[in-house]
Amino acid sequence: VTTAGPIAADFFDGRSSARHLVQATREGNLLRIAGAAVALEVPVEHANVQPRIGRTPVRVLLPGNALLLAEATELERLLPIPRSRGLAHRLESHLGAVFASLAGVVAAAWLFVQFGVPWAAREIAQRIPPEMERDIATQSLNQLDGYVFSRSNLLPERQAKLRALFAELRGSARGAAANAQLEFRDGGLIGANAFALPGGTVVATDQLVVLLRDDERVAAVLAHELGHLEHRHGSRQILQSSIIGLLSAAIAGDASTLTTVVVGLPTMLIHSGYSRDFEREADRYAYGLLEATQRSPRLLGEALEQLENAHPARTSSCSPDDAPPQRKRHGPTAEDLGYLSTHPATPERIRDAEAAAR
Ligand SMILES: [Zn+2]
Repeated sequence: VTTAGPIAADFFDGRSSARHLVQATREGNLLRIAGAAVALEVPVEHANVQPRIGRTPVRVLLPGNALLLAEATELERLLPIPRSRGLAHRLESHLGAVFASLAGVVAAAWLFVQFGVPWAAREIAQRIPPEMERDIATQSLNQLDGYVFSRSNLLPERQAKLRALFAELRGSARGAAANAQLEFRDGGLIGANAFALPGGTVVATDQLVVLLRDDERVAAVLAHELGHLEHRHGSRQILQSSIIGLLSAAIAGDASTLTTVVVGLPTMLIHSGYSRDFEREADRYAYGLLEATQRSPRLLGEALEQLENAHPARTSSCSPDDAPPQRKRHGPTAEDLGYLSTHPATPERIRDAEAAAR
């Protein structure tokens, strides 16, 4: 009879949680386990050796729910240890699988950012209480007034006429856009532009009104902004960036990102513009409002064309044109390329407006 061992092991009797220090020996076909309060003989065929998982001790299941734990390097002197067929071991031993799962994680993250985050942002945006959105709008406008805008120089009669047009459009709106307010500001560096602040404030700059001349075209741009309000694009944009920012912060363990997200809201509204999808959605909404008030969707195309002609190097976002004028002198920058790549070209939107008019 061949003998192997003894080896040191831990033994649990299956009835109590007490751990017994034991010595295990193999004698022929018998596994002998001996300790201060343990004396046991188990036929080898009744010792069920579990596959090893990483560097953890190997588990040997014994009759009566008893359990023997031993280091793999020791135990293999007594009993063969089966190769793991478990996922964890396969991942450890196959680099290919590791890279495949890494690719899976990257793909899942991409899908999450591409579809999950916008979905979550839309769902959350619809549940933000209106008064909270109005607070955000008020604070954002205050900040913009502090560093970008100044008081409008439009004549009171012109303002009154545009407000009447705005009220007419709003009269055909439902939901979030139905209670919208219109504000005029001198756009300063921002120039000809219009914004929809979450909570229901549309801001039009003097420069936009002056550039478009025709109030009906201004109305078309305002209808587009009402579309952003109706679909809560502002809140959704903020939420999307915040969710991604917070996730990055969580992953990188950098809390300063959170501060950046919170402080950067007004800046983000002005500079990053909206996504292609948001612009299309707001355009479609504008066509509907224009038609509901006996106007042609073509007005929006004409307005965009005028804005485009004023700054041919730029394409339009919500933000029919949102570049500070002095930046245009330096030709396209990396930022412009990013902007071009994420915003539909104005010619495309002009064509869409023409098509909607037919
Ligand atoms: Zn827009």
